[in-house]
Parts: sequence; structure tokens; C-alpha cells
Amino acid sequence: MKNGCIFCAIAAGEIPSFKVYEDDVVLAYLDINPFTEGHTLVIPKAHSEGLLDTPDETLAAVLARVRKVAAHLKSALPCDGFNILQNNGEAAGQTVKHLHFHIVPRYGTGPIAFESGKGDMERLKALADRVRMA
Ligand code: 5GP
Ligand code: ZN
Repeated sequence: MKNGCIFCAIAAGEIPSFKVYEDDVVLAYLDINPFTEGHTLVIPKAHSEGLLDTPDETLAAVLARVRKVAAHLKSALPCDGFNILQNNGEAAGQTVKHLHFHIVPRYGTGPIAFESGKGDMERLKALADRVRMA
């Protein structure tokens, strides 16, 4: 891991991930501790820590991909909506210091409360295959 950043290592393919989308700017993959089925992270391939140190152009490009991936998720999964979550700083719950947008598919109605669970690897793989094909 060249800069000690786990998401840079995932973007470089040094650490495996359940990829759902990739292009020259971003990588999107399933969160290993999902809040809900299909919980996906979208990261820029270029490292920045959070919202405030990311160049405008990168941010605009990443957000366009967030929308694209959310549309893929919505067509591949029986979700009714989705939340976009983006944490900045430890106080906000940011645990990985590489800009990332969470896309959290939502099923049915309920409060905006998030509780992660440990992902089942077989299930995550099948899910990533399904979303990638959508
Ligand atoms: P944060 O709390 O920083 O906004 O979110 C970090 C997210 O990254 C968490 O939801 C956590 O489950 C996820 N995560 C941490 N390490 C890995 C990893 O190695 N692979 C994947 N796919 N997700 C990770
Ligand atoms: Zn990084």
C-alpha cells in the first residue's frame, strides 16, 4: 500500500473488491459492512481525504458517477429509493480518509437510521455480478 490508504489500494487492485462500476475517474464497489443490500461506495481513483480538499472538477465528475451507479443499483435491485451519505472527519463517522460517497439502497419505508452488518462474501459477489450486468 503505497500511501497507507486502503481505498487507494482497492483502486489500484492491490486489495480485492466487489466491483460494480469502474471508469477512468472512479471505482464503485460494495461496502463490506453493508447498511442494506447493495450498499455501494463510489471513490475517485485520485486520492483526496474528503469533500474540502477535492478539486471542483473531480467532485463534479465523481458526483455524475454517483448518479450513474445509483441508477444501475435502482434498476438491478428491488429498492424503493436510496440515500447518499458522505462523511467528513472522525466526528462525522469518517473511518477511511479517502473521499467516498455511500449509496445506500432503501427498501420500504422507515427512519433514516443506519446499522451495518458484516457482509456475506458469497452474497456480495453475487450482488456485484448482478449490478454490473444491469
Ligand atoms: P466511512 O465511515 O469512512 O464513511 O465509511 C467507510 C466505509 O468503508 C465503511 O462503511 C466500511 O464498511 C467500508 N470499508 C472499510 N474497509 C473496506 C474494505 O476493505 N473494503 C470495502 N469494500 N469496504 C470497506
Ligand atoms: Zn486514498
